[in-house]
Amino acid sequence: MKIIMLGAPGAGKGTQAKMISEKYHIPHISTGDIFRANIKNGTELGTEAKKYMDQGLLVPDELTVRILLDRVSNEDCTEGYVLDGFPRTIPQAEVLDHALEELGDKIDYAINIDIADEVIVSRMSGRRACLTCGATYHTEYIIPVKEGICDKCGSELILRDDDKAETVLKRLQVYHTQTQPLIDFYENKKVLKSVDGTKKLEMVFEEICTLLD
Ligand code: AMP
Repeated sequence: MKIIMLGAPGAGKGTQAKMISEKYHIPHISTGDIFRANIKNGTELGTEAKKYMDQGLLVPDELTVRILLDRVSNEDCTEGYVLDGFPRTIPQAEVLDHALEELGDKIDYAINIDIADEVIVSRMSGRRACLTCGATYHTEYIIPVKEGICDKCGSELILRDDDKAETVLKRLQVYHTQTQPLIDFYENKKVLKSVDGTKKLEMVFEEICTLLD
């Protein structure tokens, strides 16, 4: 099963993608996580990506597509995957489509988590992330057992630079101009499913599972 998560930054794509990954035993692939791991390890790719990420801008398609295609060609992806944060532009979606077409394959579901900008802004300021293992938390909705510490690996939780208020507003603007057109793109391919992202995350997940089962 090949799934794409769509929705504005802060809609809850990452959290839902992780839950889907666990339930359906398919890898969760987040281009944002791949970039952050590269930044942390001080790679050339990380240095290049950080220039864009810190400003709330998208990393150029050429670079992003190369990384994604490389990742989905791994053996653990043969039974499917859930993509979180990719594609984010029409050209990215087209490249993925062509790559799958060449393998006689296609995306099965594009799940759009629908949510208003105002709700997102208030949610994102409470978001906390673990840069060591990629786990995400929230000061109100997903509270770690010990404040400021990751339940999974014990590292310190931080407010990511790209979750800070001014960056969030920029990211929403970028989302509306560059990523939102993907909703029509996948609607035309008859694989789009929308869920109400303002509901509690367990309810959103239930709705998604009903669509997938
Ligand atoms: P995320 O963790 O998915 O919210 O991504 C964090 C940041 O990484 C984004 O704001 C972009 O700067 C960059 N990024 C992640 N995925 C992509 C993508 N598919 N295309 C371009 N930039 C991306």
